[in-house]
Amino acid sequence: MAHPSRWLKPLPQGLWCEPGGFFIDPTRAVDRAVVTHAHSDHARPGHGAVLATPATIALMRARLGAEACRSCQPLPTGTPLHVGDVELVLQPAGHVLGSAQVVITHDNCRVVISGDYKRAADPTCDAFVPVPCDLFVTEATFALPVFRHPPATAEIGRLLASVALFGERTHVVGCYSLGKCQRLIALLRAAGWDRPIFLHGALVPLCRVYEEQGVRLGPLRPATVAARADLVGGIVLAPPSAVADRWARRLAEPVIAMASGWMRVRQRARQGGVELPLVISDHADWDELNATIDELAAPEVWVTHGREEALIHAIGLRGVKGRALGLLGYGDEDDTEAEAAA
Ligand SMILES: [Zn+2]
Ligand SMILES: [Zn+2]
Repeated sequence: MAHPSRWLKPLPQGLWCEPGGFFIDPTRAVDRAVVTHAHSDHARPGHGAVLATPATIALMRARLGAEACRSCQPLPTGTPLHVGDVELVLQPAGHVLGSAQVVITHDNCRVVISGDYKRAADPTCDAFVPVPCDLFVTEATFALPVFRHPPATAEIGRLLASVALFGERTHVVGCYSLGKCQRLIALLRAAGWDRPIFLHGALVPLCRVYEEQGVRLGPLRPATVAARADLVGGIVLAPPSAVADRWARRLAEPVIAMASGWMRVRQRARQGGVELPLVISDHADWDELNATIDELAAPEVWVTHGREEALIHAIGLRGVKGRALGLLGYGDEDDTEAEAAA
């Protein structure tokens, strides 16, 4: 068995699988890319050919246009495919609709590349499938012990309690347009909120793709300032950039909420003028990262991006060899959008 560092290499374009002849989530245009999910830092335009799950391709088409997906090849999860000199399987990552881990087997060595992932339940996507492996390549967005995400159902409970308490106001929840938005809607439905949910226009197209892919979201209505009287007592979802600007302030006495793993950091909530911070994340928290590494029992773990030092230290104490790849060009999607708005 050749050590995976001989055939899987971090290059400036991204992680390169030499015997397969493809990059995983390349951040620059390449000939052949395997894309884990449709968030903009992982699914870039301009590749010669793209392999991804059918749902990821549908989402990429909606975001990047049909032209960007001319040579996209759909591969359903759990279906092995020979690519060059490797066997490749996509397995659900539980992050957003279509998100997948990339499982590569070469020379009797199995490598699992997580992409972004979480272990908490999400009614809008398939749950993470643990695959024991020789090398686990993981994200580490929230890899600090301070990041422990509470149950999302409890955060939704806090939102609904606030709506009940301030019935004359409009609750505006900032959320990223792919994944977080649809998960919030599904969580609200599961909590019994069957009234229409109002959407900022920027959130509508991807909700449509989710519904086309079989995720039921219930009654959705456009949120326009013209219809502000209808929004009183209701819940409006909007991208973080719209929440931060005057759009949200023109609604009736808005209660500004934000759904993000970063809402654990009080200072972030305060800076954004967020009255009701909801700690809801689509990334694994500290406990999930560590539990997943233990469950997969890989003797070696590489960390693609995020806060790698604490995680590498913690797994080192348990006898697991860690390596920071320091790949550039990836960020948390909540962060990316907040920065774009700043
Ligand atoms: Zn992501
Ligand atoms: Zn990411």
